[in-house]
Amino acid sequence: MTSLAERLSGPASTTIFEIMSGLARELGAINLGQGFPDLAEPPELVAAAQRALSERSNQYPPMRGLPELRAAIAAYYSREQGLELDPAGIVVTSGATEALAASLLALVRPGDEVILVQPLYDAYLPLVQWAGGTARLVSLEPPLWTLPLDKLAAAIGPKTRGIVLNTPNNPTGTMLTRAELEGVGTLAERQDLWVVSDEVWEGMVFDGTPHVSPLAIPALAKRTVKIGSAGKIFSMTGWKVGWALAAPPLAAAVAGKHQFLTFTTATPLQWAVAEALTLPAEWHRAHRARYAAAKAQLVEGLTAAGFAVLPASGTWFVTIDLAASGLAPDDAALAEQLIREAGVASIPVSAFYADQPERGYLRLCFAKQDATLDQAVERLVAFRTE
Ligand code: PMP
Ligand code: GLN
Repeated sequence: MTSLAERLSGPASTTIFEIMSGLARELGAINLGQGFPDLAEPPELVAAAQRALSERSNQYPPMRGLPELRAAIAAYYSREQGLELDPAGIVVTSGATEALAASLLALVRPGDEVILVQPLYDAYLPLVQWAGGTARLVSLEPPLWTLPLDKLAAAIGPKTRGIVLNTPNNPTGTMLTRAELEGVGTLAERQDLWVVSDEVWEGMVFDGTPHVSPLAIPALAKRTVKIGSAGKIFSMTGWKVGWALAAPPLAAAVAGKHQFLTFTTATPLQWAVAEALTLPAEWHRAHRARYAAAKAQLVEGLTAAGFAVLPASGTWFVTIDLAASGLAPDDAALAEQLIREAGVASIPVSAFYADQPERGYLRLCFAKQDATLDQAVERLVAFRTE
């Protein structure tokens, strides 16, 4: 039997996002670390939530989500991505985080190996481990962060059962191409692997690169759980309404875990998201344009100040290439120096690695008001010229 102290002595349990936001509050730094917007919240969404609280139900909804929300999710993906979803394949969850947890708990058996792609979002590794699995790590190749299919193939062993993908990628902002996904499809078919595809950033793509979901790849359609988040599509990160989309038998397995994780997700917010999902494509274009302008502002400011910013198609983040910016490639040390000396919080990309981290890249969140971004750039310029 392990003692209580031993059980509590695992790896640090606080995420890099919490640590940097906590430090930013303590030091009064501008927070370009954790990804959340400080832009005006869409008033029509706030109004929808208020109406839902007073006019709809505040009691438990059906376990898999309100039928109206599931229908709205199906209509949204049909319109935006040409996906035809069966309502029996939709499970509404408390954010994408819960969808990830329910999916991995449903799919990973003790002793299974799961391929994780680095840089990786922080929740994947602990969730695979909690389910009794072990991770095999494959790294995207900078500076364009391409997926090396040969290395992916080499990482698949006899115990490998699944792959977790993230497109658009947090932190790099890059997207998997159809060709890369078809390559994954060939490998997945060969060994009957499942795919959990974290696509929370699918709505925040700015450069016209098409978002391709593994659900749209014939070899992957039946073996993929696609995960989305209303928090990201509508820039309401605190709403924590997400979903898992899959072929009905896979969705039923995910629902089986969801019912004992949270059982259901806040009813009024489900109504509000159902209404929000009926907003026309034009609304989404205007919403994205506001974020595209913020991105352009930060990229311009950083570039003028001598920082080399890597290309990114989506997410609320850009990354700085430290070596190309004439800076020492030690992202964690620089992040610490920036928050303490320049008063700007960032996230070191090395925090997204479980082994062999890349240390030459720093992530900044641009989803902020113009004045906040201007002030952050001013501080970074002053830091460089000191
Ligand atoms: N996956 C990725 C890649 C994310 O960036 C985030 C949040 N930033 C999540 C999952 C979690 O989303 P949610 O807040 O809906 O749980
Ligand atoms: N996903 C957000 C980010 O990348 C943070 C979410 C969290 O703090 N868990 O900044």
